[in-house]
Amino acid sequence: MKILHPILSLFLLVLIFSCKSTAKWEGQGPIQIVPTESKPIDLQEKKTFDLENRVYFSNQFEGARLHDAKRINDSLISITILPENEPINPSPWYAFKIWSASPQTFWVKFTYSDKGFHRYYPKISQDGYAYSNADSADFVLPTVAEGRPTEAFLKVSSSPDTLWVAAQDLVGTQHVTDWKAELLKLDFVEKIEIGQSTNGRTLEVLKIGTADDQKMLMAISMQHPPEVPGYLAMKAFVETICEDSPEARKFRSKFNLYVMPQMNPDGVSNGHWRHNVGGIDLNRDWVNFNQPETKALSAFMEKKVADSGGKFVFAADFHATWEDIFYTINEDLEGNFPGLIPKLIKRSSKRIPGYDPNIRPTETNERSVTSNSYFFFVHGAESMTFEVGDNTPRELIRKKGELTARELMRLLK
Ligand SMILES: [Zn+2]
Repeated sequence: MKILHPILSLFLLVLIFSCKSTAKWEGQGPIQIVPTESKPIDLQEKKTFDLENRVYFSNQFEGARLHDAKRINDSLISITILPENEPINPSPWYAFKIWSASPQTFWVKFTYSDKGFHRYYPKISQDGYAYSNADSADFVLPTVAEGRPTEAFLKVSSSPDTLWVAAQDLVGTQHVTDWKAELLKLDFVEKIEIGQSTNGRTLEVLKIGTADDQKMLMAISMQHPPEVPGYLAMKAFVETICEDSPEARKFRSKFNLYVMPQMNPDGVSNGHWRHNVGGIDLNRDWVNFNQPETKALSAFMEKKVADSGGKFVFAADFHATWEDIFYTINEDLEGNFPGLIPKLIKRSSKRIPGYDPNIRPTETNERSVTSNSYFFFVHGAESMTFEVGDNTPRELIRKKGELTARELMRLLK
């Protein structure tokens, strides 16, 4: 299958594009395949670190990441955060909780054992659910060459009440579960089980709309566990499509939106930096389909097309990185709705005062290993990777997700 699959895909591509007189399809090179067979990962030991002076650090909750905690002196505790395996992109997720028998104030030193550097501004929560940025007076990030500090310091006031500290403002799958439950109260939303993850978690897609599946849309997020800002943009996008307005109702009667909000539930649950429990970056597995998550979603989409005779016209994969970026397909290539993505980005961005979007189309016209590429080259869906900055203000993220949905509904009507 490993040899057959790319050839089959290539054959499919030729078939798709040879049928389209408008397609500018030239210079297809070999597909650059990245190995995606499962690799071992290190499972962090789930435990509570009993430090002196009756201070406790724990990783015993969903989404936690903490490998070690040691007291250095009365006012300093050093912690170690490690990745699930290597090589790995530098997205060092951390999440842990702290409490103490009596109120105490001390500094927490973040260390990464040469496996990474401190990237995410710490978020604090009193209930493990709602997070906000730590006070800037309590956070020290040493200035170093290339902006990659290997340690960071956070001043913490602990008490018998638990305090959560995390790399982003969401931990675990509870938010996603609650959000889906809210959406499922709407009569045009239903859930579809499409498979199971390696650890036995349900892989689930939401169907939004009352249309006949002739024209379909796809939105996914959280292939990479720490990329919560991308999830928040996807959430705002989906909620706008679900609105009770004449425009949204009409849109839903013509287009069905399929959504997979959490592509990597095992990775999220285990507090991974990037990979699934197969130790693989899922966004490199959209040609090989060695991992259950990519296998399930691609099979779902291909079956949808085969059963309905319809097609996917639009797809977006929501991520987060250092800054807001749109990764798009080479504009010379035309899918099922030529010009949709550039128009969509232009129109939605125009509505944000002073915002000049960073758009990076692929330079070649070759298929690659990402979801974005799969959506376009296999389905002809006009597609983009919607990257939100790690520190983009949450209201702006919401606005961008919402405006993208509004302009999409206008462009596709
Ligand atoms: Zn990502």
